[in-house]
Amino acid sequence: MKESGRDLEYLSHGETLEFQVRKLHELMAGDWQKAPGFMRRLQDAGVTADDLNTPKDIRKFPILKKSELPRIQAENSPFGGLITVPPGNLRRIYSSPGPIYDPEGHLTSYYRWERTLLACGFEEGDIVLNCLGYHLTPAGAMFEEGCHNIGCAVIPAGIGNAEIQVAVAAHLGANAYVGLPSYLKVLLEKASETGTRLGISKAFVIAEKLPESLRSEFQDTYGIHVRQGYGTAEVGAIAYECREANGMHFDPSVLLELLDTETLEPVPAGTPGEVIVTPLNPINTLLRFATGDLSSVDDRPCPCGRKSPRLTAILGRVDQVTKVRGLFVHPAQLSEVLSSFDGVDRFRAVIVRDRAMDDMTVEVQGKMALPAHTIEAIAERIKEVLKLGVSVIQVEDGTIPEDAEVIDDRRKWD
Ligand SMILES: [Zn+2]
Repeated sequence: MKESGRDLEYLSHGETLEFQVRKLHELMAGDWQKAPGFMRRLQDAGVTADDLNTPKDIRKFPILKKSELPRIQAENSPFGGLITVPPGNLRRIYSSPGPIYDPEGHLTSYYRWERTLLACGFEEGDIVLNCLGYHLTPAGAMFEEGCHNIGCAVIPAGIGNAEIQVAVAAHLGANAYVGLPSYLKVLLEKASETGTRLGISKAFVIAEKLPESLRSEFQDTYGIHVRQGYGTAEVGAIAYECREANGMHFDPSVLLELLDTETLEPVPAGTPGEVIVTPLNPINTLLRFATGDLSSVDDRPCPCGRKSPRLTAILGRVDQVTKVRGLFVHPAQLSEVLSSFDGVDRFRAVIVRDRAMDDMTVEVQGKMALPAHTIEAIAERIKEVLKLGVSVIQVEDGTIPEDAEVIDDRRKWD
């Protein structure tokens, strides 16, 4: 299984899509027919499994928004008729905020994190400190499954009790970590404080932004190889970094689309769109599951040899997006640009509407006066990233409150 899993990563993207469409057709014509809620959705959309023949056909099928799940589940408890087995035949049932109930069925690899962990350098015989939550949410258990499937032992640590975890990890010779990047830092600092030598040499981090400065610190100060990935509680693995760490390769066991949030058309490489995924899972019929996460695609070849395109980064949530002069502006994009300039302590983008025209001014604040060429460089960089001309001004220190929203939309619509 490991080998065939690895092989899939090296198919061309076109071949992968063909494989996924065949597999998806098989599920829709087979196991997924046992999910009445799913069949009803197809019926309402006027489509059947036989409408899926080529990758393009996927666009005929209805999208299931994550934000709709609480309602769908409440109307037809507990899973909205979207699973193919009786609830009592599941392995685990989780409850995430929303509330959303997440089913985990009896499959060897339900959440499919093996590829991700292998790409991070995990191997048989590793001892993994798993610092993701095991209670009510699937995070801890889903990575434990991935570790077991590649033959690692797992210390089910969860989050908290850092001092005990450091001692246990040191005694047991844990050499790998799974969890939040910020919590890895907590553990490493605790180890320094207590004079404990931790043997962790590789770490897979998830669920939080990994600043490149923190990655370098893990590498340079502690000698830990750190890679990150992307997935959700409903779906499991979606994308992961390889050794190049230049974006996250699409996991071939999930059919991934990136769509314009308004037109629902695929976006070209480099343009932000919503991540829509179809995990090829026989138990949970998540067809075209709209995650609400925004990302963009890099389809240039990767030196690692994998042929799958890569997600650049998760740029934020779809519901935080603002449109200015018809173009999407996301707080995360601005944060990314501004964080690369020294001397900018705070910033915000103020959007106003003057004679039916949107206008955006980026206010920056710092202790020292920024030179004119830095202000120009910020404006240029924003234009490159957002394709939007903006004015950048420096405001007096103390103007922007600490808890200010990144985007301050002052447009009036009446
Ligand atoms: Zn790669």
